[in-house]
Amino acid sequence: MTKPRSAVPHEDQWDVTPLYSTFQQWEEEFGKIPTTSPRWPALQSRQGKLGKNPQELKQFLEGYFAISRNLSKLYTYAHLRHDEDIANDVYKGAYQKISNVFHDFAEAFSWVDPEILAIEDGVMQQFLKSAELAAYAFYLKKIIRVKAHSLPAREEELLAMSAKAMQAPHKAFSAINDADFKFGMVADNQEKRHELTHGSFSTFIRMQDRTLRRHAYETLHGKYHDYENTLCELLMGKIQIHLFEARARKYTSCLEAALFPKNIDTSVYTSLIKAVRSNLEPMHKYIEMRKQILGVETLHLFDTYVPLVKNVDMKMSYKEAEEIVIESVAPLGAEYQNILRKGLKSERWVDRYENANKRSGAYSSGCYDSMPYILMNYKGIIKDVFTLAHEAGHSMHSYYSHKNQPYQYSDYPIFLAEVASTFNEELLMQLMMERARTPDEKIYLINEKIEDLRGTFFRQAMFAEFELLLHELAEKEIPITPKLLNDEYEKLLKAYFGPTITLDPVSTIEWARIPHFYYNFYVYQYATGISAAMALADRVVKGGEQERNDYLSFLKAGSSKYPIEILAAAGVDMKSPSPVQTTIATFSRLVDQLGECANQLAIVESNC
Ligand SMILES: [Zn+2]
Repeated sequence: MTKPRSAVPHEDQWDVTPLYSTFQQWEEEFGKIPTTSPRWPALQSRQGKLGKNPQELKQFLEGYFAISRNLSKLYTYAHLRHDEDIANDVYKGAYQKISNVFHDFAEAFSWVDPEILAIEDGVMQQFLKSAELAAYAFYLKKIIRVKAHSLPAREEELLAMSAKAMQAPHKAFSAINDADFKFGMVADNQEKRHELTHGSFSTFIRMQDRTLRRHAYETLHGKYHDYENTLCELLMGKIQIHLFEARARKYTSCLEAALFPKNIDTSVYTSLIKAVRSNLEPMHKYIEMRKQILGVETLHLFDTYVPLVKNVDMKMSYKEAEEIVIESVAPLGAEYQNILRKGLKSERWVDRYENANKRSGAYSSGCYDSMPYILMNYKGIIKDVFTLAHEAGHSMHSYYSHKNQPYQYSDYPIFLAEVASTFNEELLMQLMMERARTPDEKIYLINEKIEDLRGTFFRQAMFAEFELLLHELAEKEIPITPKLLNDEYEKLLKAYFGPTITLDPVSTIEWARIPHFYYNFYVYQYATGISAAMALADRVVKGGEQERNDYLSFLKAGSSKYPIEILAAAGVDMKSPSPVQTTIATFSRLVDQLGECANQLAIVESNC
C-alpha cells in the first residue's frame, strides 16, 4: 500500500509555505478577486484607449501584468496542492476555481492584442521609441510581428468564431485513440494472455519475451490498420485546417505560418531534416549492431526497444541522487552549484516520493513569485536520477530567468524549454560514465544514452520530415489516401533504419497513431532542443569562463529576445547544421563505444 499524503515526512515534501503560509491565507487572497463580471472593471474600462499615448498603454500593461502575476501565484499554489493528492476535494475545488478565473481573465482581455495591432504603424513606431514603454518594447514587437498577416476586424472575428469547430479532427482522434480503441489480449511465449493498452504496450515492447513483443506490436498496429481510412481523413482534416489558416493569413506555406510568429526561420526546420538525412550511417550501424547483439535472424521494429543489456543493479537512494546531480553541475560554476544545492537540500524544492493519489510522472513548475518546484515519484532506478537532473535543469532555468527578467519576459519560450533540462542530463551522463565501476555499468549507460538520442532526436526528426511532407502534399492539392501515406512512411522507415530492418505489413501504419501530428509543427523542437543542449554542453565542458558565462546568460534571458537570438548569444547557431552534426557525432561515438564493449557485454539470453 502506498502511504497517504498525511504520512509523508516533512523533509520529503516540497515547501509550499513561501507561497502562502496556510490554505486559509490562499483562500483570503483568492477571495479578493471579484466574483461577478466585470471582474477587473478599472482595467477593462481602458478598452479602446490603448493607442492614445504611451503613458496610457504603459499604465494598462502594468495593471494587466500585475493581475496576471497575482493569478499565477494563486494558480501555482492550487495546482501543486492538487497534485499532492488528486483525490483531495478541497484542493481540487481550489484548483478548479482558479482555473476558471484564469479562463475569465483570458476572455476579459481578448481584445488587447487586436487593439495593439490596430495602432497605426507610425504611431506605434513612436511608442516603441518612448521612454515610458522601454520595458515593454520587445513584448509589443512580438505582438505586431504578425501584423502583415492579420485580417480586418470582422474577418478576425469570423476566424475566432470557427475555432471550436476546427478542433473536431484532433478531438475525434483523441476520442478514438484514447477511448474507443480496445486492443484486446495478447499472448506471451508461455501462452499466458495479457491485456494490451497504450500503457502496457510500452512495457511489452521492451520485454525480453519476443513472442509477447511481436504480438503486442502486431495487434496494436493492426487496430490502426483496420481504421486507416478514418484515421487518414482525420489527420488530413487537421492538415487542411493549417492550410486554410496559412492561406487566410497569406503565408507562403503551412510551415511558415507555424514558425513566423516565433521568428524561427523555416531554414531551421529544413536544415535539421537535411543534416539528419545526410548523416544516417551511425543510426544504420546501430541497428545492425542491435541485430547482432540480439542474435536474431531478422530484426523487426518490435525488436528495436528491448534493452541490449541486463538491467544492472545501479540503484541509488534519493540522497545519493541529490549528491551526484549537484556534483554533476560543477562545470557551470560555484554560484550555479550553490543555488541548486540550497534548493534541493534546504529550501525543499522537491516533492520526492510517491504517495497515495499523488500525480504520476515528474515536472518542474513554479511562478515568478515562488521558488521552482519539482514533482517526482522517485523509486531509485537510474532513470529517476536522470529525471532529477532533467527537472533540476528546468528549475534552474526558471530560477535564473525569474531573477533576471521583469515579469513580462520571465517565461522561456517552448523552443528553448528542453535545452536546459537536456543539458543537465548530459552533464550527469558524463559524470556517471567516469564513475562507472564495472563494464556492465558503462555499457548500460551508453545504451541508455543511445536510446535517448534515438527517441528524442532521430525519431522526432523523422516525424518532422513526415509532418512537412503531409503539409506539402496538401499545399500541392495532391489527393491523399491511406496508401499514399503508408508508402511515404515506408520510405522514411527504410531511410532512417537502413538496410538491416525488416518491415512488417503493419509497420507503415505507425503514422496513424502519433498524437503529435495533430499539433502544428511541434516535434522538430525535440530534435532542435536536444541538438542545442548537446552543442552547448560540448562548448561549456571544453571551454572556459567565457563559454560558461555565455550559457548562464542563456539561462537568464527568459523570453527577452527571440529564441534563436538567445541561443546565438550563448554560442549556438541553429540555422547552421553544426549543432545537429555535434549530436550525430556524439551518437556515432557512443555506437562505436558500444561496439568495442560488445565482447564484454552481459548479453541477455535471447529467446527467439
Ligand atoms: Zn522536460
